[in-house]
Amino acid sequence: MPIPLLQVARVGAYVMHQRLRGRKRYPLVLMLEPLFRCNLACAGCGKIDYPDPILDQRLSIDECLAAVDECGAPVVSIAGGEPLLHKEIEAIVAGIIARRRFVYLCTNALLLQKKLARFRPDPYFVWSVHLDGDRGMHDHSVCQPGVYDRAVAAIKAAKAKGFRVNINCTLFNDADAERVARFFDELAALGIDGITVSPGYAYERAPDQEHFLKRRDTKELFRAIFRRGRGGRAWSFSQSSLFLDFLAGNQSYRCTPWGNPTRTVFGWQRPCYLLGEGYARTFRELMDETDWDAYGTGNYEKCADCMVHSGYEATAVQDAVRHPLKALRVALRGVDTEGPMVDEISLAGQRPARFVHSRHVEQKLAEIRIAETRSKAFATARKRA
Ligand code: SF4
Repeated sequence: MPIPLLQVARVGAYVMHQRLRGRKRYPLVLMLEPLFRCNLACAGCGKIDYPDPILDQRLSIDECLAAVDECGAPVVSIAGGEPLLHKEIEAIVAGIIARRRFVYLCTNALLLQKKLARFRPDPYFVWSVHLDGDRGMHDHSVCQPGVYDRAVAAIKAAKAKGFRVNINCTLFNDADAERVARFFDELAALGIDGITVSPGYAYERAPDQEHFLKRRDTKELFRAIFRRGRGGRAWSFSQSSLFLDFLAGNQSYRCTPWGNPTRTVFGWQRPCYLLGEGYARTFRELMDETDWDAYGTGNYEKCADCMVHSGYEATAVQDAVRHPLKALRVALRGVDTEGPMVDEISLAGQRPARFVHSRHVEQKLAEIRIAETRSKAFATARKRA
């Protein structure tokens, strides 16, 4: 079962609790990025081009656990950068599990075998290994040969030790539906517990800008994939049936950016995991002071083609809670790959993109310089004392 019953029950109870309290906006998954540093440099990544002083920053164990407590989401996805480069990652994971939150540790798996002994299988813990397709597709996506084989060897080692292992797979416009379908078939043979699939977000700073999917292309691609797997039922997706239905053009959803709030070394990122348009100091400030209506497809140019799970899975989950029979019908019958698609959201009124990245980088660099100067002055004063 891609999502264990314990998790389904706890997340379901959490959603019901939020609704009973009349909360309009609440988080489902905390995206925790304790560092941006990575041991790969993928062409479609918009996270790793920061200057070294920023790549050298780490969230401490206390900062990570404070973010978990402050946010309160029942699921924590630890991403990055490469989380296994963080020297205290196992203590961060243990602290989150102790709080009875479900941890998805996202990794490219290059360090997984080396660090496996530091972790213990737990009903609250899942390895989420990045694999963007079969050997050829994945090594092309991460711009380095041999990564797929190392990831598969690590997956086998983790499965042999009794861990749950998921795959997170990002697709671009060069994805071939037949090949993706065969790749999903192969994952079953590997004993993978669940697949998370998503179209790539068009990060403005990713080195490769040519291969991001437009909305219509995304829907056509996912229809072509699901058609080859009984409407998606052939595979073990760890995503809601309605999110898959949305990817295939059967649901018209607005994104729920607060569903996956993001904490990075900059602070709480506005408005979502994909866009860094400002940072709040606290989770409450993020929720209360972000102009949420300024974002989303139809509202903002940078959101025009976004169909990424971190923006829309929460929308699909909320829809499933409101319309459980619809969700059940898609789960049982599979995603419709033949009928007419829902109308597309008009982009006529969207506001133009703002480019604010370099301002945030300069501000962070200035903060780092001030902190370093203070720490040197403090060390000198202690020596003299
Ligand atoms: S559509 Fe929503 S989730 Fe996607 S980039 Fe825009 S705000 Fe973020």
